[in-house]
Amino acid sequence: MKTDFSTLVRPHLWNLTPYSSARDEYKGTEGVFLDANENPFGSVTGEYVNRYPDPHQTEIKRKLSQIKGVREEQIFLGNGSDEAIDLLIKAICTPLEQSILILPPTYGMYKVCADIQQVTVLSAPLTVDFDIDLPRVEETIEPSTQMIWICSPNNPSGNLVDREKIRTIVEKYPQKIVVIDEAYIDFAPDASWLPVLDQYPNVVILQTFSKAWGMAGLRLGMAFAHPELIAILNKIKYPYNLNILTQKALLQALDHEDQKNQMVQDLIQERQILAEALQNQAEVLHIFPSDSNQLLVRVKNPSDLFHYLIGQKVITRDRSNVLLCEGCLRISIGTREENQHLLSEMNRFSALHPET
Ligand SMILES: *Cc1c(COP(=O)(O)O)cnc(C)c1O
Repeated sequence: MKTDFSTLVRPHLWNLTPYSSARDEYKGTEGVFLDANENPFGSVTGEYVNRYPDPHQTEIKRKLSQIKGVREEQIFLGNGSDEAIDLLIKAICTPLEQSILILPPTYGMYKVCADIQQVTVLSAPLTVDFDIDLPRVEETIEPSTQMIWICSPNNPSGNLVDREKIRTIVEKYPQKIVVIDEAYIDFAPDASWLPVLDQYPNVVILQTFSKAWGMAGLRLGMAFAHPELIAILNKIKYPYNLNILTQKALLQALDHEDQKNQMVQDLIQERQILAEALQNQAEVLHIFPSDSNQLLVRVKNPSDLFHYLIGQKVITRDRSNVLLCEGCLRISIGTREENQHLLSEMNRFSALHPET
């Protein structure tokens, strides 16, 4: 399968000369550094932040490439996946001319980033059970469509979408980029596309440290793709997009993958317990199957329940106005105690709203 990045990437970026930082021009770590106008005395708090961070995140990528089983030149690290989403659209789509395809209901940032860049957003909604509607995808795609955005496990529905359908799209459109957002992939063992990335040069895989790794506050997202595309992302990112504290925290975190795996196991167990308990709730009409750390739940009185819960300081996400999510709240899996708290407040709500 052939993907020609020189025609896929916007031509002016292909030829762009990127900013060359002091840390690009001298890569050693030892010496008297008088090249970057840093403060040699240190920082005002004494914390080691007076030096610029590694713009290429070399040490992190070395470790990460082992954990993920990919080559370092296949890795882009961003200030959250959001940065990768933004840069991908910037790199691939010409404003006012080209388009992306999204499969709603899905993560909102794909459309927001496209809207900001004046890139047209085409939609091929998922089926009612939140799987890819292949005929719909095929009839919606236009020649101007540069990228197809697939979220699996999907947000807000929580489920993995059909792997064969993704494969069909990837193989049918080798000259379009297919982004597979795997933000929740840790909760769905063996479902990642990472092991077959080398076979599909048009595939970009997004992952994040925000969910399973428990590091949403750090803002750290990953994109895995063909080295030619990764090189373009690196060329157009801000030179120091990951700050020194984030890089340090991440390097430590990467030694604790077992802890991440343990939390994933615990969250999956809590999801099971919560889903079973929700089945018995008078308010609950349907619980959608989840391969992530969220449950999409259809309830009888979504708006009333949502606001009642907020009044009790239990915050869920009202998705009842989202396409195909009519009547649904999205509930993140909490600790055992937090989930119990949710359930008892739902019981109280039902007692206040007897069946009519
Ligand atoms: C939470 C989430 C992300 C993560 O975004 P970050 O910017 O890395 O925090 C990405 N994609 C989806 C679908 C998500 O739900």
